[in-house]
Amino acid sequence: MIEKLGILQGDITKLATDAIVNAANSSLLGGGGVDGAIHRAAGPQLLEECRSLRGCNTGEAKITKGYNLPAKWIIHTVGPIWSNGRSGEPEALRSCYLECFKLAVKHDIKTIAFPAISCGVYGFPVDQAARIAIGTTIEFLKREQSLEGVSFVCFGDQDYETYVEVFGELC
Ligand code: ADP
Repeated sequence: MIEKLGILQGDITKLATDAIVNAANSSLLGGGGVDGAIHRAAGPQLLEECRSLRGCNTGEAKITKGYNLPAKWIIHTVGPIWSNGRSGEPEALRSCYLECFKLAVKHDIKTIAFPAISCGVYGFPVDQAARIAIGTTIEFLKREQSLEGVSFVCFGDQDYETYVEVFGELC
C-alpha cells in the first residue's frame, strides 16, 4: 500500500498522471499559485468548462478535462483558509482529499497527483497539512484498491522536506 505513495518536488502541471488536483478558490475561475499555473498550462478551454461548473464549496471537489496538460483530468478542490486551526480547517482539508478520491474512483482514475492544498496563500501550516494529506490517503488506500498511485507534489524545498519527514513518521 505504501508503495503506491510518492513525494515529488516540482511543477504539477508537467505530470502525466491520469489526474492532477488543483488547489482552486471557490469561484473556480482561476487565481494565483498552482491554480494560475494549471490554467496557463491547460489553456483557455479550461476556464470555459470551469465557468459552467458554477463554483465549488470549501472541502468539495469538481472535475474537468485536462485540455493541454499531460494529465487527462483535473480535479478542482477548494481548501480551507487557515485562521486558527479550531475553525474546522483540519476537517475541511481532510474532506478535500476524500472528495478528490471519490471523483477519482468514479472516473476510473488510477494515478493522481496532489499539490499541497491550502499551503500557499491560504496559510495552512505545512506540517499539519502534510499529516492530513498523507494520513487521509493511507486510510483511503486501505479500503479502496482501485487507485494505483498517489503523488504529493511539493513546489518548494522546505515543503518537500516537511512532506518527506511526515511520510517517514506515518509510513
Ligand atoms: P492555496 O490557495 O490552496 O493555499 P496556492 O496555490 O497558493 O494554494 O498554494 C498551494 C501550494 O501549491 C503551495 O505549497 C505552493 O507552493 C504550491 N504550488 C504553486 N505552484 C505550483 C506548481 N506549479 N506545482 C505544484 N505546486 C505548486
